[in-house]
Amino acid sequence: MNLADRIEGLRTRITRACEAANRDPESIELLPVSKKQPLALIREAAVLGFTRFGENYVQEGADKAIAAPDLAFVLLGPLQRNKAKPALQHFAEIQSLDRPDLAERLRRLAQEQEVSCPVWIQVDLWDEATKLGGCTEADLPALIESLGGDARLPLRGLMAIPPPGLEAAFRQMADLRERLQQTLGQPLRLSMGMSDDLEEAIAAGTDQIRIGTAFFGERVYAR
Ligand SMILES: *Cc1c(COP(=O)(O)O)cnc(C)c1O
Repeated sequence: MNLADRIEGLRTRITRACEAANRDPESIELLPVSKKQPLALIREAAVLGFTRFGENYVQEGADKAIAAPDLAFVLLGPLQRNKAKPALQHFAEIQSLDRPDLAERLRRLAQEQEVSCPVWIQVDLWDEATKLGGCTEADLPALIESLGGDARLPLRGLMAIPPPGLEAAFRQMADLRERLQQTLGQPLRLSMGMSDDLEEAIAAGTDQIRIGTAFFGERVYAR
């Protein structure tokens, strides 16, 4: 299957999920996840109108951002403090902010370099272990506090990778978003739903779905 066909199939899934949930398909942002995909394929997607892509690894994303300055890349993968500088330099947004020490490092760098970068907080309500990253609900207030309302790191929303098969997970995230919006008095977007579970995420009210394999096909891992 080629890229255009896969995207058409995805659009159909999104439309059906929206019909079932009584939502407007236009309200769902489709973020293609291009990790482990060649730049040539990303370029094909750009021709079809996509300009923002999710990446998991700082080095890989930075390389692509340098090679394609006309496109924007969003960091989705775990971020180490010692990679904060290239992350800030090359990514248009960071969705995997999950610790106060990282927030503080990003703030310091953003101030030094006089740049700004919208951030999303990655939340893990299910104790998925540290591999995937994510902040627990209990640790959220301290993390938000550490951002200090800094205009250089505006908080855009919450990102999550709910465990497969846990049906309640997407609703839990939607509830958390509601509560946090109330507490903070600001709108927050919700990014959840991947190739296998975009329907559940749309039903629960996600604003953005992050789609890798259903968009680009299987990832190409070096042998
Ligand atoms: C890889 C990845 C995706 C896309 O996963 P698919 O199952 O290929 O759609 C989305 N979000 C994050 C954080 C990822 O790491």
